[in-house]
This record gives sequence, structure tokens and C-alpha cells, in this order.
Amino acid sequence: MTRILIAEDEERIVSFLEKGLRAAGYTTLAVSDGIDALSLARDDSFDLLILDLGLPGIAGQEVLQRMRSRGEQMPVIILTARAGVDDAVRGFEGGADDYVVKPFRFEELLARVRVRLRGAPAAESAVLRAGDVTLDLRTRRAAVGERMVELTAREFALLENLLRHAGQVLSREQLLSHVWGYDFDPGSNVVDVYIRYLRKKLGADVVETVRGMGYRLRTDR
Ligand code: CA
Repeated sequence: MTRILIAEDEERIVSFLEKGLRAAGYTTLAVSDGIDALSLARDDSFDLLILDLGLPGIAGQEVLQRMRSRGEQMPVIILTARAGVDDAVRGFEGGADDYVVKPFRFEELLARVRVRLRGAPAAESAVLRAGDVTLDLRTRRAAVGERMVELTAREFALLENLLRHAGQVLSREQLLSHVWGYDFDPGSNVVDVYIRYLRKKLGADVVETVRGMGYRLRTDR
């Protein structure tokens, strides 16, 4: 079981992170200040720390410095507001492994988490597949059977999300938060618009509409 410690004081970001990381199969624990973060951040209890720089108690930067000075090697991904990017870059000198600028898409954070947890060569296949739809994460190419399909970055992210949950129903809200990020207006119809784009490119029956619930990528084509 891979355990991730989240040190973040903004509740909606914590719930956004916990939902997404748990859905991706990780165990999470969240703390909202730097004092708790520092006391829990021990190599033997967590595999990775997601650390907000602007934490009450002890600031993220100092949490990181104290961890590294007591010899802890746990990977750390910093979360920072755009105005704090300079601090985040300084975070690398303080021993951070990566940083993500708020607001961020969940997939962006998840990709970094996966990279940091992957000490050994990737166990995960680079090609996602369901029915005759394939998506190569390395070359960033999609195909239906033998036919190659050009996707925009957002279409790619949406298809990746659907493929990772092929056969399951994903609600608009889930897709919105996974692909567009937590700052997106929940009343937006952008998910429906992009599902239409995907259907146009991949075939109308690739994504099913489950009335009142959301969308499902078919696995039986
Ligand atoms: Ca904060």
C-alpha cells in the first residue's frame, strides 16, 4: 500500500487531492499545518509528501528544510500559488523533488506523483486500451483499430481519464475535476462539449451516456 501525506490548509484542495489519489489507489492522510506535517513526515510512515508552501504553524519551506536536515529522503512535491513560484524553485535547493503551481489539473499532479514514486522502472504499461481504442502515453497518440487519431491536449487528458476507468461510469463532476481542475465552474458544460469532440474523432458509440449519471467508455467494441 502506497501512503501519501498531504500537508495543505485549503479544505477544497485537500478534498480534491484525497478523492483523486484514493481513486488512483493510494492511501492518504491530510494535515493542515506545518507542525503536524513535520511530526508525521518520517520516511517509514509515508512514501511521498505533497507539501503546500503556505502552511500555518511552520511554513512548507521550513518543514522541508527540517526534514532534509534530519536525513529524511522521502520524495516531496511542493504546491504553490503562482506568486510563490520563486519560492518553489528555491524549494529544489531545500530538497524538493518537484513542484506544481495552483490551480492545477489533477492529472498533472498525479503524473508527478507517479514519477516520484517510481524508483524502479515503470511497472505501468505506457499504452491504455479498451475495446479497439488505444492511447499511447509516451508518444501521446490515440488510435481506433489501425486508424490514428489526432487529439488536442484536453481531449487527450479526457480520453486518458475515461480509459483509466474504462467500463465505469464517471460523473461530469469527476471528469471536470480530474481533467479541468478544481477551479472550474461546476455548472459548465465543457465536459459534454469535449465528449462530443471525442465521439466525432473516435466514433459515436465509443463513449456511452448514462442518463442522469455521466459517461462510460465502452469496453466491448
Ligand atoms: Ca496554504
